[in-house]
Amino acid sequence: MFPKSPVTTVEKDQIRRLSRLLPHRTALKFIEITLAFCLAFLLAHLGTVQPFFPFYILAFLTVTWVQHAVFEELHEGAHYRLASSRRLNEYLAGFYGSLMGISLDNFRVRHHMHHRHFGTPRDPDLPQYQTCPSGVKGWLQYIAVNFTGYGAITSLLGAQSTLTTGQPSWQHPGFTLVVQFVVFVIGVLVGQPFFYFAFWFAPLITLTYGISHFRTLLEHYNPQTWQDPATGETCYGAFYDFQAGIQRHLLGAQFGYNYHGSHHTEPSVPNYNLNQIAHEDYREVPETLIRTTTYFHRMSEILSPGYEQ
Ligand SMILES: [Zn+2]
Ligand SMILES: [Zn+2]
Repeated sequence: MFPKSPVTTVEKDQIRRLSRLLPHRTALKFIEITLAFCLAFLLAHLGTVQPFFPFYILAFLTVTWVQHAVFEELHEGAHYRLASSRRLNEYLAGFYGSLMGISLDNFRVRHHMHHRHFGTPRDPDLPQYQTCPSGVKGWLQYIAVNFTGYGAITSLLGAQSTLTTGQPSWQHPGFTLVVQFVVFVIGVLVGQPFFYFAFWFAPLITLTYGISHFRTLLEHYNPQTWQDPATGETCYGAFYDFQAGIQRHLLGAQFGYNYHGSHHTEPSVPNYNLNQIAHEDYREVPETLIRTTTYFHRMSEILSPGYEQ
């Protein structure tokens, strides 16, 4: 899409080295996700036996963390970054997709369009970052759509679907229903039949859905449009890298996805190596659109009156 500056052999070697997949890192992330999932059950259990309501809140938030971690790994799988074995990558990514109720095939097609056609109407994610809510009323509307379950349910029912390959697969919807049922059964077996509804499905369609949309807004919103140097087409958006810290755990980018600008530049690099991409290695996007900041600074920027104009 953009003219590339010459890449030296040393830089190519560095990217190749960073793109090498490390099976133990994928396994470690899987273990972290599993442990956090168990912690959520423990917290929900404590909330019931004590009974102490804050434990329920902690269980809800822990599950939100788990779901973002699962989504980040689904994204890695969509880029074939989970395992060098194609079959293993597809099984693991398919499993993660089923936990989230997402079709791996559909997500992969849709997400590659996000990379390839960024900033144009051909990017299915454009509505998430083309405009930014404005004023109290605008933000309340944004929250009402994205954080209450309304946006998730309407998209689930197909009313807001922006892209579908229309092809059912082994993973979706069949295996997805099986996995959702398994989560429900685990809850029943540990004496919490309500777990699936209150601490898996509810966070999935409210806080998890809302935060992932808000993160896309933070990652890509840009009040200024720009011209595609090749076609002259008016494009939207920018690419933000966020410094690591506790905030990435609250905003669903815990394994390295906070370096989202770097990811757009070098999608072959797995999330655990994105922090090692030096700024001068950006190639695919105009330099002026690559910005590094912190989540807090970016949030205060996007929430400040008049920024969206
Ligand atoms: Zn993106
Ligand atoms: Zn990607």
